[in-house]
Amino acid sequence: MRRKLAAGNWKMNGTGAALGALEAIAAAHPAPSVDILICPPATLLSRAAHALADSAVDLGGQDCHAETSGAHTGDISAAMLADAGARAVILGHSERRADHAETDAQVCAKTRAALEAGLMAVVCIGETLEQREAGQTLDVVCGQLAASLPDGIDGARVVVAYEPVWAIGTGKVPTLEQIAEVHDALRGQLLGRFGAETGSAIRLLYGGSVKPGNAAEIFAVSNVDGALVGGASLNAADFSPIIRALE
Ligand code: PEP
Repeated sequence: MRRKLAAGNWKMNGTGAALGALEAIAAAHPAPSVDILICPPATLLSRAAHALADSAVDLGGQDCHAETSGAHTGDISAAMLADAGARAVILGHSERRADHAETDAQVCAKTRAALEAGLMAVVCIGETLEQREAGQTLDVVCGQLAASLPDGIDGARVVVAYEPVWAIGTGKVPTLEQIAEVHDALRGQLLGRFGAETGSAIRLLYGGSVKPGNAAEIFAVSNVDGALVGGASLNAADFSPIIRALE
């Protein structure tokens, strides 16, 4: 049985003043029946790890480099994230793929690096609006999935987040049937490639404009094991009801 996961992506939001919001989320869920992960900016990780030391909330990074160290100015290795208190890292977010031209091959290398550093990898995939309207959604997401995950993975430490690009930060959400179609296809592909044990252990999150008002119906969709939440993860007033909808 896969444990559900409510994951928050703070993106490039939050300075030290935002630690209070993290503490409020942790205080509202002292003993959750689901996993809670928040990925603040890397600059906050150490302080957040200190503030949440005794809480049930795990912390994650938002990207890592595929190499362990070296001449990569401005980049952060997976081991550095782990050292700062991260248990996980988001990889291949569509904003990274768009803003930094990240390819599936790079995401795959980063995923390998994250797993080798002991982190859980949250690998993001998703189609653009043009691709959906052209009827290419399943081809696109299945292609991204195939090329973004390395062989020989531990399914318990890999999470796949299906995030339609057109749903991120827009207030637009696919129909429940569209979410089910993609998640069922992804599960089928994972089972086919990795076998029953690993393929059924990998958690599948939906991401894209998840809010308190739509979380419960999305979480009822087959093969949805939780959510990757952007804007609504920035404060307890929005994120707590989403966590409770998953419990
Ligand atoms: C995201 O950026 O991963 C995301 C899902 O954002 P939002 O929830 O704001 O659409």
